[in-house]
Amino acid sequence: MSLARACDPAVLGRGMTSSRTRERLAQRLLAAGLRDDAVIDVLRQLPRHLFIDEALASRAYEDSSLPIGWGQTISQPYMVARMTQALLEAGPLQTVLEIGTGSGYQTAVLAALARRVYSVERIGALQARAEQRLRALRQRNVRLRHGDGHAGWCEYAPFDGILVTAAASGIPRQLAEQLAPGGRMVLPLDLGRAQVLVRLTKSPAGRRPGYRHELLEPVTFVPLLGGIA
Ligand code: SAH
Repeated sequence: MSLARACDPAVLGRGMTSSRTRERLAQRLLAAGLRDDAVIDVLRQLPRHLFIDEALASRAYEDSSLPIGWGQTISQPYMVARMTQALLEAGPLQTVLEIGTGSGYQTAVLAALARRVYSVERIGALQARAEQRLRALRQRNVRLRHGDGHAGWCEYAPFDGILVTAAASGIPRQLAEQLAPGGRMVLPLDLGRAQVLVRLTKSPAGRRPGYRHELLEPVTFVPLLGGIA
């Protein structure tokens, strides 16, 4: 995937999307303790304003989540970077499954860092918009589907990485099953009073099957819902 078109001045626009504004966001992410230069570079270059409504575009490079319609939000850049870093920490990934495409922004970040990205969204209208945006950015290593992410995407499983961008109350069984040996899943879990970001790592091939859990940090996500809309 090339970011060349995404960074074309005609696509970038002017003013609020200037390289200074983006650099400020990159500096905030560094100040917040993020350390993966490759991830920060992608966030520095990717035109986030193209993933939200024009009325909110002036806020695109603030480090905050923003509404994208249908009661959903585009994740905060810090959280996008944090989850991507957590997924990539143990080494590069070939195939990644994302659950909760939303605006498509996190999908585009993953597409810049993994060989192939698959993403499932339950709200048809959001999925269609994300498809248009990613096509306009010529992101060819991405495949999107309208469906309930609880079922994963059997056709392309197993995945080296799975990233879930909505909070579940337990680890969805079919997603864990679709992880490749040694693969990892990063997901927010709703523990009732609070949500926590968790990394689940499947044991490598040749070892006794099992999963290792790490609790990363407290988070706030919209819920992972069942069915499609
Ligand atoms: N990564 C997205 C986050 C969007 S918010 C972004 O930054 O834009 C989480 C998304 O998960 C919402 O779009 C919501 O509709 C979707 N979602 C919730 N439950 C889902 C499910 N079971 N399957 C697929 N998508 C789901």
